[in-house]
Amino acid sequence: MLLLGATVILQSASLRETVAAFAPVYPWVIFGVGLLLGWRFKRRQLVVSLIVLFAAERALVTFSPDAGPSSIGRIVFAAIALLLPLDLAALAWLTERSLSAWTGRVVLGLILGEPLAIALLMRPELAHVTQALQHVFVPLGVSLKLPQPALLVFLAAIVLATMRFVLRPTVIQSSLAWTLIAVFLGLNGDNPASTVYLTTGGLVLVISLIETSHRMAFSDELTGLPSRRALTAALMRLPELYTAAMIDIDHFKKLNDEHGHAAGDQVLRLIGSTLTRTEGGGRPFRYGGEEFAVLFPGKSSEEALPYLEDLRETIEASTFIVRGRNRPKVRPEKPLRSTRGQRRVAITVSIGVAEPEASGADPEDVIRAADQALYKAKRAGRNRVFVAE
Ligand code: GH3
Ligand code: MG
Ligand code: MG
Repeated sequence: MLLLGATVILQSASLRETVAAFAPVYPWVIFGVGLLLGWRFKRRQLVVSLIVLFAAERALVTFSPDAGPSSIGRIVFAAIALLLPLDLAALAWLTERSLSAWTGRVVLGLILGEPLAIALLMRPELAHVTQALQHVFVPLGVSLKLPQPALLVFLAAIVLATMRFVLRPTVIQSSLAWTLIAVFLGLNGDNPASTVYLTTGGLVLVISLIETSHRMAFSDELTGLPSRRALTAALMRLPELYTAAMIDIDHFKKLNDEHGHAAGDQVLRLIGSTLTRTEGGGRPFRYGGEEFAVLFPGKSSEEALPYLEDLRETIEASTFIVRGRNRPKVRPEKPLRSTRGQRRVAITVSIGVAEPEASGADPEDVIRAADQALYKAKRAGRNRVFVAE
Protein backbone atom coordinates (compact mmCIF):
# COMPACT_ATOMS: atom_id res chain seq x y z
CA MET A 1 0.00 0.00 0.00
CA LEU A 2 2.78 2.41 0.93
CA LEU A 3 4.73 1.61 -2.22
CA LEU A 4 1.61 2.02 -4.31
CA GLY A 5 0.96 5.35 -2.61
CA ALA A 6 4.53 6.49 -3.27
CA THR A 7 4.21 5.46 -6.94
CA VAL A 8 0.93 7.33 -7.40
CA ILE A 9 2.34 10.45 -5.75
CA LEU A 10 5.49 10.33 -7.87
CA GLN A 11 3.51 9.88 -11.06
CA SER A 12 1.04 12.69 -10.48
CA ALA A 13 2.10 15.87 -12.22
CA SER A 14 0.15 18.13 -9.88
CA LEU A 15 2.11 16.88 -6.88
CA ARG A 16 5.53 17.20 -8.48
CA GLU A 17 6.39 20.47 -6.76
CA THR A 18 5.13 19.29 -3.38
CA VAL A 19 7.21 16.12 -3.70
CA ALA A 20 10.30 18.11 -4.64
CA ALA A 21 9.83 20.35 -1.61
CA PHE A 22 9.09 17.47 0.73
CA ALA A 23 11.70 14.95 -0.48
CA PRO A 24 14.72 16.52 1.27
CA VAL A 25 13.11 16.32 4.74
CA TYR A 26 11.38 12.95 4.31
CA PRO A 27 14.49 10.75 4.85
CA TRP A 28 15.64 12.72 7.88
CA VAL A 29 12.26 12.35 9.57
CA ILE A 30 11.72 8.65 8.79
CA PHE A 31 15.26 7.45 9.41
CA GLY A 32 15.54 9.67 12.49
CA VAL A 33 12.37 8.28 14.04
CA GLY A 34 13.20 4.75 12.87
CA LEU A 35 16.67 4.72 14.36
CA LEU A 36 15.38 6.07 17.65
CA LEU A 37 12.63 3.42 17.85
CA GLY A 38 14.95 0.62 16.72
CA TRP A 39 17.44 1.60 19.38
CA ARG A 40 14.78 1.81 22.10
CA PHE A 41 13.26 -1.53 21.13
CA LYS A 42 16.72 -3.11 20.84
CA ARG A 43 16.23 -4.26 17.25
CA ARG A 44 19.69 -4.23 15.77
CA GLN A 45 18.55 -6.00 12.61
CA LEU A 46 16.32 -3.01 11.87
CA VAL A 47 18.78 -0.39 13.06
CA VAL A 48 21.47 -1.70 10.71
CA SER A 49 18.97 -2.02 7.83
CA LEU A 50 17.88 1.59 8.35
CA ILE A 51 21.48 2.84 8.52
CA VAL A 52 22.34 1.02 5.30
CA LEU A 53 19.27 2.44 3.54
CA PHE A 54 19.94 5.95 4.83
CA ALA A 55 23.60 5.84 3.81
CA ALA A 56 22.63 4.66 0.32
CA GLU A 57 19.99 7.35 0.01
CA ARG A 58 22.46 10.06 1.07
CA ALA A 59 25.13 8.77 -1.31
CA LEU A 60 22.70 8.78 -4.24
CA VAL A 61 21.76 12.39 -3.48
CA THR A 62 25.39 13.48 -3.04
CA PHE A 63 26.83 11.75 -6.11
CA SER A 64 24.48 12.16 -9.02
CA PRO A 65 24.71 9.10 -11.29
CA ASP A 66 23.61 11.03 -14.37
CA ALA A 67 27.07 12.05 -15.55
CA GLY A 68 29.16 9.86 -17.88
CA PRO A 69 29.72 6.10 -17.41
CA SER A 70 33.06 6.44 -15.62
CA SER A 71 32.03 9.38 -13.43
CA ILE A 72 32.13 9.08 -9.64
CA GLY A 73 28.34 9.18 -9.53
CA ARG A 74 28.04 6.20 -11.87
CA ILE A 75 30.57 4.14 -9.95
CA VAL A 76 28.84 4.89 -6.65
CA PHE A 77 25.49 4.05 -8.18
CA ALA A 78 26.67 0.74 -9.68
CA ALA A 79 28.28 -0.25 -6.37
CA ILE A 80 25.19 0.65 -4.31
CA ALA A 81 22.91 -1.16 -6.74
CA LEU A 82 24.95 -4.30 -6.15
CA LEU A 83 25.65 -3.99 -2.42
CA LEU A 84 22.34 -2.69 -1.05
CA PRO A 85 20.26 -5.76 -2.04
CA LEU A 86 23.04 -8.03 -0.77
CA ASP A 87 23.12 -6.20 2.58
CA LEU A 88 19.36 -6.31 3.05
CA ALA A 89 19.15 -9.99 2.08
CA ALA A 90 21.97 -10.81 4.52
CA LEU A 91 20.26 -8.80 7.26
CA ALA A 92 17.01 -10.66 6.57
CA TRP A 93 18.81 -13.89 7.39
CA LEU A 94 20.28 -12.61 10.65
CA THR A 95 18.52 -12.66 13.98
CA GLU A 96 19.13 -10.68 17.15
CA ARG A 97 21.05 -13.69 18.43
CA SER A 98 23.14 -14.37 15.33
CA LEU A 99 24.03 -10.66 15.19
CA SER A 100 26.07 -11.22 18.34
CA ALA A 101 27.64 -14.43 17.05
CA TRP A 102 30.64 -14.41 14.76
CA THR A 103 28.57 -14.72 11.55
CA GLY A 104 26.70 -11.57 12.53
CA ARG A 105 29.92 -9.76 13.34
CA VAL A 106 31.44 -10.73 10.01
CA VAL A 107 28.37 -9.45 8.14
CA LEU A 108 28.37 -6.21 10.13
CA GLY A 109 32.10 -5.79 9.51
CA LEU A 110 31.61 -6.29 5.78
CA ILE A 111 28.77 -3.77 5.70
CA LEU A 112 30.88 -1.23 7.60
CA GLY A 113 33.71 -1.77 5.11
CA GLU A 114 31.52 -1.03 2.10
CA PRO A 115 32.06 2.77 1.94
CA LEU A 116 35.78 2.11 1.92
CA ALA A 117 35.40 -0.47 -0.84
CA ILE A 118 33.38 1.99 -2.89
CA ALA A 119 36.04 4.67 -2.36
CA LEU A 120 38.71 2.22 -3.56
CA LEU A 121 36.74 1.64 -6.75
CA MET A 122 37.57 5.22 -7.76
CA ARG A 123 41.21 4.24 -8.23
CA PRO A 124 42.14 3.91 -11.89
CA GLU A 125 43.78 0.50 -11.29
CA LEU A 126 40.33 -0.88 -10.45
CA ALA A 127 38.66 0.46 -13.57
CA HIS A 128 38.05 -3.08 -14.82
CA VAL A 129 36.01 -3.80 -11.68
CA THR A 130 33.81 -0.76 -12.18
CA GLN A 131 33.37 -1.81 -15.79
CA ALA A 132 32.39 -5.31 -14.70
CA LEU A 133 29.79 -3.79 -12.36
CA GLN A 134 28.12 -2.23 -15.38
CA HIS A 135 28.59 -5.20 -17.68
CA VAL A 136 25.86 -5.85 -20.23
CA PHE A 137 25.21 -9.59 -20.53
CA VAL A 138 22.33 -9.46 -22.94
CA PRO A 139 20.99 -6.36 -24.67
CA LEU A 140 17.52 -5.84 -23.26
CA GLY A 141 14.85 -4.06 -25.25
CA VAL A 142 13.76 -1.92 -22.31
CA SER A 143 16.24 0.52 -20.89
CA LEU A 144 16.56 -0.08 -17.17
CA LYS A 145 18.71 2.18 -15.12
CA LEU A 146 20.05 -0.70 -13.05
CA PRO A 147 23.18 -2.37 -14.43
CA GLN A 148 22.58 -6.01 -15.33
CA PRO A 149 24.81 -7.54 -12.60
CA ALA A 150 22.77 -5.58 -10.03
CA LEU A 151 19.58 -6.80 -11.64
CA LEU A 152 20.65 -10.40 -11.09
CA VAL A 153 21.69 -9.70 -7.51
CA PHE A 154 18.33 -8.05 -6.86
CA LEU A 155 16.49 -11.07 -8.15
CA ALA A 156 18.52 -13.37 -5.89
CA ALA A 157 18.10 -11.02 -2.90
CA ILE A 158 14.32 -10.84 -3.28
CA VAL A 159 14.15 -14.64 -3.55
CA LEU A 160 16.37 -15.01 -0.46
CA ALA A 161 14.35 -12.53 1.60
CA THR A 162 11.09 -14.20 0.56
CA MET A 163 12.48 -17.62 1.47
CA ARG A 164 13.43 -16.26 4.84
CA PHE A 165 9.93 -14.94 5.31
CA VAL A 166 8.46 -18.34 4.43
CA LEU A 167 10.71 -20.00 7.02
CA ARG A 168 10.16 -17.33 9.64
CA PRO A 169 6.88 -15.60 8.88
CA THR A 170 7.11 -12.45 10.97
CA VAL A 171 6.04 -8.92 10.14
CA ILE A 172 9.66 -7.77 10.18
CA GLN A 173 10.79 -10.47 7.74
CA SER A 174 8.01 -9.62 5.33
CA SER A 175 8.80 -5.92 5.59
CA LEU A 176 12.45 -6.60 4.72
CA ALA A 177 11.31 -8.32 1.50
CA TRP A 178 9.05 -5.35 0.69
CA THR A 179 11.87 -2.95 1.41
CA LEU A 180 13.95 -4.73 -1.22
CA ILE A 181 11.20 -4.09 -3.74
CA ALA A 182 11.10 -0.43 -2.68
CA VAL A 183 14.87 -0.22 -3.16
CA PHE A 184 14.55 -1.82 -6.59
CA LEU A 185 12.00 0.81 -7.64
CA GLY A 186 14.10 3.57 -6.10
CA LEU A 187 17.30 2.62 -7.87
CA ASN A 188 15.49 2.44 -11.20
CA GLY A 189 14.20 5.99 -10.77
CA ASP A 190 15.91 9.36 -10.66
CA ASN A 191 15.88 11.86 -7.85
CA PRO A 192 13.55 12.55 -6.06
CA ALA A 193 12.03 9.13 -6.87
CA SER A 194 15.06 7.33 -5.44
CA THR A 195 14.83 9.30 -2.20
CA VAL A 196 11.08 8.75 -1.93
CA TYR A 197 11.27 4.99 -2.58
CA LEU A 198 14.29 4.31 -0.39
CA THR A 199 12.75 6.28 2.47
CA THR A 200 9.40 4.56 1.98
CA GLY A 201 11.32 1.28 2.28
CA GLY A 202 12.56 2.61 5.62
CA LEU A 203 9.03 3.59 6.57
CA VAL A 204 7.86 0.02 5.88
CA LEU A 205 10.50 -1.20 8.35
CA VAL A 206 9.49 1.39 10.97
CA ILE A 207 5.83 0.42 10.70
CA SER A 208 6.70 -3.27 10.98
CA LEU A 209 8.54 -2.47 14.20
CA ILE A 210 5.52 -0.66 15.65
CA GLU A 211 3.24 -3.49 14.55
CA THR A 212 5.53 -6.10 16.10
CA SER A 213 5.52 -4.24 19.42
CA HIS A 214 1.76 -4.01 19.31
CA ARG A 215 1.52 -7.74 18.68
CA MET A 216 3.89 -8.48 21.52
CA ALA A 217 1.64 -6.55 23.87
CA PHE A 218 -1.71 -7.82 22.66
CA SER A 219 -1.14 -11.38 21.56
CA ASP A 220 -0.01 -14.40 23.47
CA GLU A 221 3.27 -15.78 22.23
CA LEU A 222 2.59 -19.46 22.93
CA THR A 223 -0.88 -19.86 21.43
CA GLY A 224 -1.04 -16.85 19.13
CA LEU A 225 -4.40 -15.96 20.68
CA PRO A 226 -5.15 -12.42 21.85
CA SER A 227 -3.72 -11.95 25.33
CA ARG A 228 -5.32 -10.97 28.59
CA ARG A 229 -4.49 -7.33 27.84
CA ALA A 230 -6.49 -7.66 24.63
CA LEU A 231 -9.37 -9.13 26.65
CA THR A 232 -9.32 -6.15 29.01
CA ALA A 233 -9.51 -3.85 25.99
CA ALA A 234 -12.26 -5.95 24.36
CA LEU A 235 -14.35 -5.87 27.56
CA MET A 236 -14.56 -2.08 27.28
CA ARG A 237 -15.93 -2.22 23.75
CA LEU A 238 -18.71 -4.79 24.25
CA PRO A 239 -22.35 -4.17 23.38
CA GLU A 240 -24.96 -4.22 26.14
CA LEU A 241 -25.71 -7.89 25.60
CA TYR A 242 -22.88 -10.38 25.55
CA THR A 243 -21.71 -13.60 27.12
CA ALA A 244 -18.37 -14.37 28.69
CA ALA A 245 -17.07 -17.92 29.10
CA MET A 246 -14.08 -18.98 31.18
CA ILE A 247 -12.42 -22.22 30.11
CA ASP A 248 -9.97 -24.17 32.24
CA ILE A 249 -8.19 -27.37 31.25
CA ASP A 250 -8.93 -30.27 33.58
CA HIS A 251 -6.06 -31.80 35.53
CA PHE A 252 -3.51 -29.93 33.52
CA LYS A 253 -0.93 -30.13 36.26
CA LYS A 254 -1.03 -33.90 35.98
CA LEU A 255 -0.43 -33.71 32.24
CA ASN A 256 2.60 -31.52 32.85
CA ASP A 257 3.89 -33.93 35.47
CA GLU A 258 3.40 -37.01 33.30
CA HIS A 259 4.51 -35.75 29.91
CA GLY A 260 6.64 -32.74 30.68
CA HIS A 261 6.17 -29.00 30.40
CA ALA A 262 6.91 -28.98 26.66
CA ALA A 263 4.05 -31.40 26.04
CA GLY A 264 1.86 -29.15 28.21
CA ASP A 265 2.78 -26.19 26.03
CA GLN A 266 1.95 -28.19 22.94
CA VAL A 267 -1.50 -29.03 24.32
CA LEU A 268 -2.09 -25.36 25.13
CA ARG A 269 -1.30 -24.51 21.51
CA LEU A 270 -3.66 -27.19 20.22
CA ILE A 271 -6.47 -26.06 22.52
CA GLY A 272 -5.79 -22.49 21.43
CA SER A 273 -6.22 -23.42 17.79
CA THR A 274 -9.40 -25.36 18.60
CA LEU A 275 -10.76 -22.24 20.30
CA THR A 276 -10.15 -20.12 17.20
CA ARG A 277 -12.68 -22.37 15.45
CA THR A 278 -15.41 -21.54 18.01
CA GLU A 279 -18.63 -20.89 16.15
CA GLY A 280 -21.42 -18.45 16.92
CA GLY A 281 -19.10 -15.43 16.81
CA GLY A 282 -17.11 -16.48 19.88
CA ARG A 283 -13.80 -14.61 20.25
CA PRO A 284 -11.14 -16.52 22.18
CA PHE A 285 -8.40 -15.11 24.44
CA ARG A 286 -5.68 -16.69 26.53
CA TYR A 287 -6.52 -15.52 30.01
CA GLY A 288 -3.38 -16.90 31.61
CA GLY A 289 -1.77 -20.26 32.38
CA GLU A 290 -4.14 -23.00 31.24
CA GLU A 291 -7.17 -20.72 31.32
CA PHE A 292 -8.91 -19.24 28.32
CA ALA A 293 -11.83 -16.85 27.85
CA VAL A 294 -14.33 -16.66 24.99
CA LEU A 295 -16.55 -13.62 24.44
CA PHE A 296 -19.80 -13.73 22.50
CA PRO A 297 -20.76 -10.13 21.72
CA GLY A 298 -24.51 -9.69 21.19
CA LYS A 299 -25.41 -13.16 22.48
CA SER A 300 -27.18 -14.18 25.66
CA SER A 301 -25.72 -17.07 27.64
CA GLU A 302 -28.62 -19.22 26.48
CA GLU A 303 -27.70 -18.48 22.86
CA ALA A 304 -23.99 -19.04 23.42
CA LEU A 305 -24.42 -22.27 25.37
CA PRO A 306 -24.76 -24.67 22.37
CA TYR A 307 -21.51 -23.35 20.87
CA LEU A 308 -19.71 -23.84 24.17
CA GLU A 309 -21.12 -27.36 24.50
CA ASP A 310 -19.81 -28.06 20.98
CA LEU A 311 -16.44 -26.74 22.00
CA ARG A 312 -16.29 -28.92 25.09
CA GLU A 313 -17.32 -31.98 23.06
CA THR A 314 -14.83 -31.26 20.30
CA ILE A 315 -12.01 -31.07 22.82
CA GLU A 316 -13.17 -34.20 24.61
CA ALA A 317 -13.37 -36.10 21.30
CA SER A 318 -9.98 -34.99 20.01
CA THR A 319 -6.91 -37.04 20.68
CA PHE A 320 -3.97 -34.80 21.30
CA ILE A 321 -0.69 -36.28 20.19
CA VAL A 322 2.28 -34.93 22.07
CA ARG A 323 5.96 -35.66 21.82
CA GLY A 324 6.54 -37.64 24.95
CA ARG A 325 9.59 -37.53 27.16
CA ASN A 326 11.59 -40.71 27.10
CA ARG A 327 10.91 -41.43 30.68
CA PRO A 328 7.98 -39.85 32.50
CA LYS A 329 8.63 -38.87 36.10
CA VAL A 330 5.48 -40.59 37.27
CA ARG A 331 4.18 -43.72 35.64
CA PRO A 332 0.82 -42.95 33.99
CA GLU A 333 -2.11 -44.67 35.68
CA LYS A 334 -3.49 -45.94 32.41
CA PRO A 335 -0.60 -46.60 30.06
CA LEU A 336 -1.15 -44.34 27.08
CA ARG A 337 -0.60 -45.71 23.61
CA SER A 338 2.77 -44.55 22.57
CA THR A 339 4.24 -44.89 19.12
CA ARG A 340 7.83 -43.86 18.55
CA GLY A 341 7.96 -41.20 21.22
CA GLN A 342 4.49 -39.86 20.39
CA ARG A 343 1.76 -40.13 22.95
CA ARG A 344 -1.96 -39.71 22.72
CA VAL A 345 -3.45 -37.81 25.59
CA ALA A 346 -7.10 -37.25 26.37
CA ILE A 347 -7.98 -33.69 27.36
CA THR A 348 -11.15 -32.23 28.75
CA VAL A 349 -12.07 -28.71 29.77
CA SER A 350 -14.52 -27.19 32.22
CA ILE A 351 -16.39 -24.06 31.21
CA GLY A 352 -18.14 -21.37 33.26
CA VAL A 353 -20.55 -19.01 31.50
CA ALA A 354 -22.08 -15.67 32.52
CA GLU A 355 -23.85 -12.67 31.03
CA PRO A 356 -24.34 -9.18 32.54
CA GLU A 357 -27.07 -9.23 35.19
CA ALA A 358 -28.29 -5.73 34.41
CA SER A 359 -27.42 -3.34 31.62
CA GLY A 360 -24.27 -1.41 32.41
CA ALA A 361 -22.91 -4.12 34.69
CA ASP A 362 -19.14 -4.05 35.18
CA PRO A 363 -17.60 -6.55 32.71
CA GLU A 364 -15.11 -7.56 35.42
CA ASP A 365 -18.10 -8.76 37.48
CA VAL A 366 -19.29 -10.84 34.55
CA ILE A 367 -15.86 -12.44 34.27
CA ARG A 368 -15.92 -13.11 38.00
CA ALA A 369 -19.37 -14.73 37.75
CA ALA A 370 -18.15 -16.91 34.86
CA ASP A 371 -15.16 -17.87 36.97
CA GLN A 372 -17.44 -18.90 39.84
CA ALA A 373 -19.54 -20.99 37.47
CA LEU A 374 -16.32 -22.60 36.27
CA TYR A 375 -15.39 -23.43 39.83
CA LYS A 376 -18.79 -25.13 40.25
CA ALA A 377 -18.27 -27.09 37.04
CA LYS A 378 -14.97 -28.34 38.46
CA ARG A 379 -16.57 -29.33 41.74
CA ALA A 380 -19.34 -31.14 39.91
CA GLY A 381 -16.81 -33.45 38.29
CA ARG A 382 -15.16 -31.44 35.46
CA ASN A 383 -15.66 -31.77 31.68
CA ARG A 384 -18.89 -29.77 31.76
CA VAL A 385 -20.38 -26.36 31.07
CA PHE A 386 -22.04 -24.43 33.90
CA VAL A 387 -23.98 -21.20 33.54
CA ALA A 388 -23.93 -18.67 36.40
CA GLU A 389 -27.28 -18.30 38.14
P1 GH3 B 1 -8.09 -28.46 37.59
O1 GH3 B 1 -8.79 -29.53 36.86
O2 GH3 B 1 -8.65 -28.26 38.96
O3 GH3 B 1 -8.07 -27.19 36.82
O4 GH3 B 1 -6.62 -28.96 37.80
P2 GH3 B 1 -5.33 -28.37 37.16
O5 GH3 B 1 -4.22 -29.30 37.42
O6 GH3 B 1 -5.58 -28.02 35.73
O7 GH3 B 1 -5.22 -26.99 37.92
P3 GH3 B 1 -4.05 -26.25 38.65
O8 GH3 B 1 -4.46 -24.82 38.71
O9 GH3 B 1 -3.73 -26.94 39.94
O10 GH3 B 1 -2.78 -26.39 37.72
C1 GH3 B 1 -2.62 -25.65 36.59
C2 GH3 B 1 -1.29 -26.01 36.01
O11 GH3 B 1 -1.11 -25.42 34.75
C3 GH3 B 1 -0.14 -25.54 36.85
C4 GH3 B 1 0.92 -25.17 35.87
O12 GH3 B 1 2.01 -26.02 35.98
C5 GH3 B 1 0.27 -25.37 34.52
N1 GH3 B 1 0.55 -24.27 33.62
C6 GH3 B 1 0.15 -22.99 33.70
N2 GH3 B 1 0.61 -22.27 32.66
C7 GH3 B 1 1.32 -23.11 31.87
C8 GH3 B 1 2.04 -22.99 30.66
O13 GH3 B 1 2.13 -21.91 30.05
N3 GH3 B 1 2.64 -24.11 30.14
C9 GH3 B 1 2.56 -25.31 30.76
N4 GH3 B 1 3.15 -26.36 30.20
N5 GH3 B 1 1.89 -25.46 31.93
C10 GH3 B 1 1.28 -24.40 32.48
MG1 MG C 1 -6.48 -23.13 36.39
MG1 MG D 1 -6.95 -26.53 35.22
